[in-house]
Amino acid sequence: MPSAIVVGAGIFGASLAGHLARDGWEITLVDKHEPGHELGASGDASRLIRSAHGSDRWYARSARRARQLWRELEDETGTPIFEEVGLAWLARSADGWEADSEHALRDEGIPLERLEPDAGRELFPSFNPEGLEFILFEPEAGVLRARDALLAVVDRAVSEGAELVLADARANGGGVEIDGESRSADVVVWACGAWLAGLFPELVGIRVTRQDIFYFDAGPEWTTPPVPGWVEYDAAYYGLGDLSGRGMKIAPDSEGPPFDPDDADRAASAESEASARRFAAARFPGLDRAPLAWSRICPYALTVDTNFVIARHPERADHWILGGGSGHGFKHGPALAEYVAGVLEGEEPDPRFALGPRRPGGSLRTAGT
Ligand SMILES: Cc1cc2nc3c(=O)[nH]c(=O)nc-3n(C[C@H](O)[C@H](O)[C@H](O)COP(=O)(O)OP(=O)(O)OC[C@H]3O[C@@H](n4cnc5c(N)ncnc54)[C@H](O)[C@@H]3O)c2cc1C
Repeated sequence: MPSAIVVGAGIFGASLAGHLARDGWEITLVDKHEPGHELGASGDASRLIRSAHGSDRWYARSARRARQLWRELEDETGTPIFEEVGLAWLARSADGWEADSEHALRDEGIPLERLEPDAGRELFPSFNPEGLEFILFEPEAGVLRARDALLAVVDRAVSEGAELVLADARANGGGVEIDGESRSADVVVWACGAWLAGLFPELVGIRVTRQDIFYFDAGPEWTTPPVPGWVEYDAAYYGLGDLSGRGMKIAPDSEGPPFDPDDADRAASAESEASARRFAAARFPGLDRAPLAWSRICPYALTVDTNFVIARHPERADHWILGGGSGHGFKHGPALAEYVAGVLEGEEPDPRFALGPRRPGGSLRTAGT
């Protein structure tokens, strides 16, 4: 039976650990914090799931496959995970990212509707269509209950036989040092999110940024479901309605300042709150005076082209690096695990995921600016 140590029980590591355990691998899943903790990227309450990725087909297919796998996890575990409320792309330009997405998704046979800007008034309790060319609506997209989903993935991995170890792990020669004790396995996968940058500074071109998220007390008419997710790509804002009483989520997707993921200061910036308020008041005028319910921050682990990293360590053939979620990785978790399992079993990863220099400029997340 092949064995693997997977370091990092965020959605990338936990999904992979569960997939391999189910395939009969002997798995040790290590995290220095309890799964679902608030310092990482996967412990937040919600994440958008959408197939649109501009003209990119790899991620569109991956998201679509993941959608099916999330549903299967839901059926198997009885945990509510996916709210299929749809996702509205608020397109400012007639021939921009949304138009590219429309073209790609129609080719892929993924359901889509092209709506007039005014149709936003039916999707949201309060909506100002000014400045929009159209709305691209993905009816089978929506919102994942991210933290619940992560915990279900970890529980399932454990029930498939994975051993969960709460400890700090370090590379040590060909093996891994887990809380000072040497362990080895056929394969070691470092799926350490924003911490990869510090663990492998010479290898991994990941920048960690501090991202603010705001929740406004908007009133019951803003509850998700049925209020859909939304993205205004050219404004670099995204959000959803009030999921489970947390408040309406509005978040800037432009890159925040550099950040140390161990930093305990987790207060969102007042400047960023003011800017989120201006955006909300302009696009969703009913939120003009909505009080801030709460806010939080979360680290992005950004590659320069926003493609993930799936790569063998250049000096240790049995060590792999998995990460670079770049602000859009969560939804792909179970589909990415399938892909990476194939790679560990001998398939060549797509060169886009390699270590080494990349061409800056792509944006697969929800920010065009
Ligand atoms: C504000 C924000 C909004 C986002 N919105 C979306 C969205 O709408 N849709 C979407 O699909 N994605 C979204 N993302 C991206 C998504 O959340 C991430 O890509 C994904 O969660 C990354 O998962 P991960 O497993 O790589 O990292 P993490 O979840 O951060 O997990 C890494 C884990 O490794 C552990 N670890 C690190 N070092 C060690 C060590 N030495 N020893 C042991 N354990 C270690 C950490 O404790 C941590 O638990 C968003 C991210 C942020 C920050």
